[in-house]
Amino acid sequence: MLVANGLVKTYGRHRALDGFDLTVQPGEIVGLIGHNGAGKTTFVEIVTGLVRPDAGRISIGAYDALRSGRAARRLVGVAPQEPALYGSVSVRENLRLLAGLAGLRGRHRDAGITQVLEELQLSDLADRPVGVLSGGQRRRVQAATAMVGSPPLLLLDEPTAGADPETRSALLAAVRSRAEAGAAVLYTTHYLPELVDLDATLALARGGRVIARGTQEELTRHLPGELRVSFTDPAEPELRLPTTDPGGDLAALLASGRTPASVDVHRAGLDDLYRSLEHAATERTEARDAAA
Ligand code: ATP
Repeated sequence: MLVANGLVKTYGRHRALDGFDLTVQPGEIVGLIGHNGAGKTTFVEIVTGLVRPDAGRISIGAYDALRSGRAARRLVGVAPQEPALYGSVSVRENLRLLAGLAGLRGRHRDAGITQVLEELQLSDLADRPVGVLSGGQRRRVQAATAMVGSPPLLLLDEPTAGADPETRSALLAAVRSRAEAGAAVLYTTHYLPELVDLDATLALARGGRVIARGTQEELTRHLPGELRVSFTDPAEPELRLPTTDPGGDLAALLASGRTPASVDVHRAGLDDLYRSLEHAATERTEARDAAA
């Protein structure tokens, strides 16, 4: 549904995107993650047509998004990182306006609005001006504007930033159900557990390109976890052993004659993946500097 190849975008002397490749299939949720400045928002802005790349190709459905931008963008629902809503008009009016811009009319538009208001638990707020809503409620309205009319491609740029748990779970449930109905979803966040909840494919951006893509299991499998062992004897400290083979290492410990009171296996998670990438990048920079 979304295929991007070799995108380059330069601001002055800074390359925000430097050969960025990414695909999102129908029904797939891709969690785009990466440190501040990795290029995530620039990519979203290119897909939405706000920013034009210096090089590269991008297609949305059957359209070349750089040549047939208007037709391609009709397939896209966007919740930008910075809320973009009309504060003086009601939630429903905001949805009507944005659904209209997306080409929805009449009964089809009203049915889409009713559905998305229910999904995001906004029905009670539908007739209130957006300007009087709380930050979390506005986030939900912003996500609703992306989802109204059920576009086949959803771009959600940190939709849960600053959201309370209720808002977060309403949003995640709506995203899940849209993907189950066949939408392709690109989701950026700094809150990694959300991506585990969504069972998302992960794409890791760094320095303006995607450097790894896969499920959490695929991306973290090679990383060491930790075996945490405590003993009944208070004189013995708790042991923390990095391990890629918890069963084998535990067997070796038992064979050494020491009897643990408890054993906990901590598997590597996304935070460990982030740290390992940071570490690898620092090592590469140091090696390059040393060779220079
Ligand atoms: P964050 O997680 O903080 O939202 P991000 O991964 O979305 O970061 P981008 O906003 O895409 O990162 O920015 C990528 C790089 O491009 C950054 O170094 C940023 O300063 C730069 N950049 C982005 N937009 C502009 C602009 N309009 N003018 C100049 N530089 C820009």
